[in-house]
Amino acid sequence: MNDAATNLVWDSHAGFAFMQPGDLDELSRWAKSGVDFVSVNIGYDVEPWTKSVEALSGYRHWLRQNTDRFVLVNDFADVVAAKKGGKLAVSFDIEGADSLNGDLGMVDFYYRLGVRQMLFVYNRNNLVGGGCHDGNQGLTAFGRAVVNEMNRVGMVVDASHCSHRTSMELMERSSAPVVFSHSNARALHDHERNIQDDQIKACAEQGGVIGINGVGLFLGDGDTAERILAHVDYMCERVGARHVGLGLDSILDCQPDDALSEEALGPRAKQYWPPRQYPGAPMAFAPIEVIPSLVAGMKARGYSAADIAGITGGNFARIAADVWKPVQV
Ligand SMILES: [Zn+2]
Repeated sequence: MNDAATNLVWDSHAGFAFMQPGDLDELSRWAKSGVDFVSVNIGYDVEPWTKSVEALSGYRHWLRQNTDRFVLVNDFADVVAAKKGGKLAVSFDIEGADSLNGDLGMVDFYYRLGVRQMLFVYNRNNLVGGGCHDGNQGLTAFGRAVVNEMNRVGMVVDASHCSHRTSMELMERSSAPVVFSHSNARALHDHERNIQDDQIKACAEQGGVIGINGVGLFLGDGDTAERILAHVDYMCERVGARHVGLGLDSILDCQPDDALSEEALGPRAKQYWPPRQYPGAPMAFAPIEVIPSLVAGMKARGYSAADIAGITGGNFARIAADVWKPVQV
């Protein structure tokens, strides 16, 4: 991989799905924070699949009107070119395969429209497999077909939010590296959204990367930057810095409480965020501006410049360079 790719700063997941489709202006904060690429969420299982299409349409339209600052990327070379041109590269991700509406053809449909990564199950079991807050279900027959189709088109398979069993089966089945775009270490903080040592190990062995997220509920108590660094340390100690990245899950201006409320989402909110795991306190999300503190913290802890470059982006960039394929007509 060339130096330009190695030095990319890469945020593998940002949660914009709660915003009104068409308004991504807050992405300028990513650019100001030195981020070169961000994967923007366009939908999740909590809402009907049509919302994903609505967000995709709105976001694509908005990006076309703001090409002076942003680039909706098609292939990996576009990311490198965007950085050279001083613009923020953007692609999309989906949280939960219910956005496929049970239709295998939708994988290719979304890929053509800029979706470069999809996690399979958002917390609760769905058409393709098991969620982390549900029974420990594995992949369904449809889920296995979806893995094959994602491998075929070049969409990155993401195991965050899945059940333990589904995540392990994804890593076993996928011919391309599987990522956890935004998952922390369960050994450091015992929350069902966090992943266990065997998942971390299997991900690294399969060539994947784990993105540490900045959600307080999944980090554990303490200073946000210090907690993110603790999870980075933990992963690096187990599987090496080459398999660790950032998927900070920064959303809105870090005040998503209303968007996640029962008033906003109705009774479905409690199904996807069970009160036993989400005790009602407002969710705290690290702002994207935390990145310089993370870099300073890694330097202070003695990480090499190469390891820091990998963790802040080079590792996820490597996955994209390897997995994304040209759109096939
Ligand atoms: Zn998520």
